[in-house]
Amino acid sequence: MSKISILGIEGTAWNLSAAIVDEDDVIAETTATYMPKTGGIHPREAAQHHANHITEVVRETLKKGKSEISAVAFSQGPGLGPCLRTVATAARALALSLDVPLIGVNHCIAHIEVGRWKTPAKDPVTLYVSGANSQVLAYRKGHYRVFGETLDIGIGNALDKFARSVGLPHPGGPKVEELARTATKYIPLPYTVKGMDFSFSGLTTAAQESVKKYTLPDVCHSFQETAFAMLVEVTERAVAHTGKREVLLAGGVGANSRLREMLKIMCEDRGIEFYVPEKRFMGDNGAMIAYLGLLMYKSGYRTPISESKVNPNFRPDDAVVTWR
Ligand code: AMP
Ligand code: MG
Repeated sequence: MSKISILGIEGTAWNLSAAIVDEDDVIAETTATYMPKTGGIHPREAAQHHANHITEVVRETLKKGKSEISAVAFSQGPGLGPCLRTVATAARALALSLDVPLIGVNHCIAHIEVGRWKTPAKDPVTLYVSGANSQVLAYRKGHYRVFGETLDIGIGNALDKFARSVGLPHPGGPKVEELARTATKYIPLPYTVKGMDFSFSGLTTAAQESVKKYTLPDVCHSFQETAFAMLVEVTERAVAHTGKREVLLAGGVGANSRLREMLKIMCEDRGIEFYVPEKRFMGDNGAMIAYLGLLMYKSGYRTPISESKVNPNFRPDDAVVTWR
């Protein structure tokens, strides 16, 4: 019997990426990245970018993959509406033309599952930190439960927004990290944790104000220390509450070495494992969509065309986990 191979398409925001995976590995991946000329991500422009590149991205992936496709998976949400719709339209057309099933996947869960695939993590508490999303999740009884999440903007967007306001190019996260390395002191900024949730917009505004009085490296450093401490606090409480013995870091902001260091210290203090996937699996990528598609496909899950509408607010805890 030939192996199951799934083609997955990601395009919830800035990155358009198609990949083919089988049960062992990523067979092929092709990416086209939208780079705003000025400012941040413009949803309609990003969607136009995806529409312009989707044919070549899919064609290239199929050419490199050379395998028979068992199903087409796509990000059904959460994400930017115009981008989601562009990718979903392409996925539907492709599934119909290849005459294979369609599988709509939750983007946040794909980040978790690719981490469980590409690291030794089995049943972790996941800190998922990306542009638009910031959540602490863990599996329990058929769902990935959200233990804590942002009450306003995602940590990546907060960093990008702050960076933009001080004249740094998009994406701002890596620039803030770089500048923070040369800081000489910590400036107190609003630390907002409410129950198990956190908020970043007050911190972003305060940081924007602070650059009038303090050096940019000091403000970048203080922004990171404050925001990351909030994330680590909630992650630690989710670990204490669930009794899980592993923490997994997911999402583009996970590239930040200070965030990794802080999580590592927390995990070492508690005597639990800390896992970070390779960088290519951290930011948005097609392989994670294809891999979650593969897990869902094997568990018998299919998305009829009539139920393939995108959902920009698709919550990970609304998805039924049929593969664990
Ligand atoms: P994603 O939405 O998961 O693809 O992640 C994109 C986000 O990650 C953007 O907001 C970036 O600014 C952010 N990001 C990427 N690298 C870093 C870094 N080294 N430190 C902080 N944020 C980062
Ligand atoms: Mg993401």
